[in-house]
Amino acid sequence: MPSINPCFEQLSPRYIFPFIEQKLAELQQTTPEAKILNFGIGDIAEPLATSIVHAICSAVQEMGWRSSMRGYGPSTGYSFLKEAIVRNLYAHLGIESKDIFISDGINSDIVNILDLFAPTNRIAIPNPSYPAYKDACIIEGLHRSLLELPCTRETGFLPRPPSEGCDLIFLCSPHNPTGMAFTRMELKEWVEYALRWNALILYDSAYSCFVNSEDTPRSIFEIEGAQKVAIECCSFSKSAGFTGLRCAYMVIPSDLEIKYSSLSLQTLWNRRQTTKFNGVAYPIQKGALASLEGKGKEETEAQVRSYLYLAQTLSQGLRRLGFTCFGGRDAPYIWWRTPDNITSWEFFDLLLHRCQMICIPGEGFGSCGEQYVRLSAFTTAPSVQEALDRLATL
Ligand code: PLP
Repeated sequence: MPSINPCFEQLSPRYIFPFIEQKLAELQQTTPEAKILNFGIGDIAEPLATSIVHAICSAVQEMGWRSSMRGYGPSTGYSFLKEAIVRNLYAHLGIESKDIFISDGINSDIVNILDLFAPTNRIAIPNPSYPAYKDACIIEGLHRSLLELPCTRETGFLPRPPSEGCDLIFLCSPHNPTGMAFTRMELKEWVEYALRWNALILYDSAYSCFVNSEDTPRSIFEIEGAQKVAIECCSFSKSAGFTGLRCAYMVIPSDLEIKYSSLSLQTLWNRRQTTKFNGVAYPIQKGALASLEGKGKEETEAQVRSYLYLAQTLSQGLRRLGFTCFGGRDAPYIWWRTPDNITSWEFFDLLLHRCQMICIPGEGFGSCGEQYVRLSAFTTAPSVQEALDRLATL
C-alpha cells in the first residue's frame, strides 16, 4: 500500500474558499428566496472583453485549418506573448523575454516554485495572507521553519522586514486580504533586507493592475537591486478577467544572485516546467496577448477602473455608516474591522443571516486577520448599493 505524504496531517482540514462556497450553498438551499449578495471570493463579475473573445475564437479557428494547426506549444509559453509582456510592461525595467515564463496561474507558480527549494529554508509568510502560501509550504514539507510576518493596524496591514534573517519571503502587493499596497519606500526596505540577508522574495503581483497611487510601484523591479533578489508572479486573472481561462507568468531575472552551484533559477525553473508542465493553450495565450495592446487593453483597463470605483464606493459607504475599514484604494479588497467583541466568524454569520451578504472572515487568512472581514469589490454597482441599504438597517 502506498504511504501518504504525512505533511497533509499538518494542514487545516478545510481550505477557506470552498468552505465559504459551502455556507453559501446551504443558505441557498434553506432560504431559496434570499437575494444573496456575494462579496466573498475574489472572482470576476464582468464578462470577457470583446477583443479577447475574438482573439480566442480566431485562434481556435486557426487550429482547425491544416495550414495553421498547432499541437503542443512551448512549455514556458509562446514568444509572441513573452515579447508583448516585455514590450508593454517591463521594457523600461530591463526585463527581457527570456526572463518570462508563461503558466496557467499564479496559484500554480507560487506553490510550484517551492519545488526548487530545500526543506531547510526559513520561510517568511505574512499573516494574514493568501492561504495557498502557507498550505503549499506545508504540503511540500517546507514548514519546519516558518516565520510569520504580522500585518496589523500597527504595521499598516502590510508585512514589515523582521529583525532576524530568513531565506524565502512571500510578499504580495497590493496585499490580499488587507487591500493595502507598499509605497516605494516600504518596498525598498524589503529589497534592502533581501540583499542584506541573501534572501529571495517571491513577489505576488496578482493585483498590480489596480495600483493607482503615484508613490506605489506596480512591479518590484521598479526598485533598484530587486533583479538580484526577487521573482515576480503576475496574472491575467484580475487584469483581464482570465479566472476561468487561466493564464499567468513569472518573471525570473537572469541577474538573480541565488544559484545552485552554476545553475541559475531560470535554468532550474525551465527544467522543472519542461518536466511537469506542457504549457498554456495557444488560444488562451492569444487572448492574453489581446488584453495587452490596442482595443483589448482599453476594454480591460475600463473593467479594472470600474472594480476600483466599486471598492471606493463600498468603503466610503461603510465609513458613512460608522464602520471602520481599510484598503480599497489600490486594490479590489476592503478590510473591514468587526464591531467590538464580535469575532470575524461571528460577524460573517451575522452578515449572512441578517443581510444575506457573503464576506470572508479575516481569521481564514491567518490569526492576525481576526477582528476583520474581507469584502471583494468584484461585484456590480446595484449590489454595492443594495448592500449599503441593507447594512444601514443592521
Ligand atoms: N495570488 C493572490 C494573492 C490571489 O488573491 C489569487 C487569487 O485570488 C491568486 C494568486 C491566484 O491567481 P491565479 O488566478 O493567477 O491563479
